[in-house]
Amino acid sequence: MANVSNGAIARMLIRTYDILAKKRDGGKHTADEIRALVQGFVSGDVTDYQMSAWLMAVCINGLDGEETAALTEAMIASGETVDLSSLQGLTVDKHSTGGVGDKTTLVLAPLLASAGLTVAKMSGRGLGITGGTLDKLESIAGLSTSLSKDQFLQQAREVGCVIAGQTADLVPADKKMYALRDVTATVECVPLIAASVMSKKLACGASTILLDVKVGSGAFMKDIESARQLARTMIDIGTRMRRRTVAAITGMDQPLGLAVGNAVEVAEAVKALSGGGPDDLRQLCLQLGALLAAAAGRRSSEPIDKSALSAARRRLAGLLSSGAALDKFRQMVAAQGGDSRVVEDPSRLPQPSFHTVVRSASAGYIAAVDAGAIGRAAGLLGAGRQRKEDAIDPTAGILLRKKTGDRTEAGEELALLVYSGTVQVEPAVELVRSAFRFADAPPEPAPLIHETLGF
Ligand code: URA
Repeated sequence: MANVSNGAIARMLIRTYDILAKKRDGGKHTADEIRALVQGFVSGDVTDYQMSAWLMAVCINGLDGEETAALTEAMIASGETVDLSSLQGLTVDKHSTGGVGDKTTLVLAPLLASAGLTVAKMSGRGLGITGGTLDKLESIAGLSTSLSKDQFLQQAREVGCVIAGQTADLVPADKKMYALRDVTATVECVPLIAASVMSKKLACGASTILLDVKVGSGAFMKDIESARQLARTMIDIGTRMRRRTVAAITGMDQPLGLAVGNAVEVAEAVKALSGGGPDDLRQLCLQLGALLAAAAGRRSSEPIDKSALSAARRRLAGLLSSGAALDKFRQMVAAQGGDSRVVEDPSRLPQPSFHTVVRSASAGYIAAVDAGAIGRAAGLLGAGRQRKEDAIDPTAGILLRKKTGDRTEAGEELALLVYSGTVQVEPAVELVRSAFRFADAPPEPAPLIHETLGF
């Protein structure tokens, strides 16, 4: 038995059938059982139908904190990890659970790097109504998000900021499990989402992680309680694995900023990095940036007081107005082979061939702009994909002219739809129209950040 690995021994001793039966009956797994299942699935010994049955049993009977941490560890162990320990300074990462118009990573990564933190981040592509940072960045001509591990580390070391796609050998178990979850109605399950997200974050190696858990019509989590549960589960996993992990639950009832799409969001991020841009985007980036900067390098037992947060926020605001954050973005784009002239001249981004204006049929105050409907409309125009293999149109998107709380007169512009392909515009126009709700008085402003956890 000298050449047989521990994993192989565990797999021999633990029957997959018994693991499935245990979860079906509401039992608690040992770490060895979870490891055997995940290793067996990646090697092909555990079949898709067995894993599907287990995933459904987990959706019904759940996993506790220890099981969820064991699942995350087993998923991380299925592939390579990135070791950032050779890099100077504090390494930070942020993850958004996905929203409409959410371009905070494009702003936050260079902003935090300009403050001296190292941001080495692996991001994803858009799926369904939520956009993806990689698709947005790739609307910059020449920019590559496919970096080898060495290129990723070198850019992190030299520029302090890198945003790349997940390499094929990072957490292969997640790729395989996610593909099954997608077609077996087992995506919407807190421990499975938490293990999937955290396995990727932890494998990337940053010492401090900020989780931006979106809640609202344009988010995975539709209510605060489920967002809180997801945030707590992910913090618990990160803390068990000795990473400083904090979370903010942020609103996604209306899109963030005014631009929804890919090239249009890059242009808006450049405005924010230049010290301008829509106020909600700027405020959220400053607030999340301050939380992450204040948490970095502190142990969870060290509380962060309000004055440390205000100081971090002031410093970050200074880096936006001085041009330092924009310069870091320019360096990052150039290092990844992109046309960094988009920073001075956003018209170098891909431009749409067609525009359609959506006007208000009535006068009043905007009571709501349904982020879910705007995200679906942007998808119909070509900005998003329904299946992973779909191509996107980088020029497609929606530019909102009004947001919640604004006053509109009948006939005023509510939104501008932009696109280049042969698309069905009318259904998109109808969706955008239906996204706007009107009232006689402005609604109470909703908080950008509902609550923070782990501080
Ligand atoms: N995002 C992920 O990375 N994993 C999930 O399970 C859900 C959202």
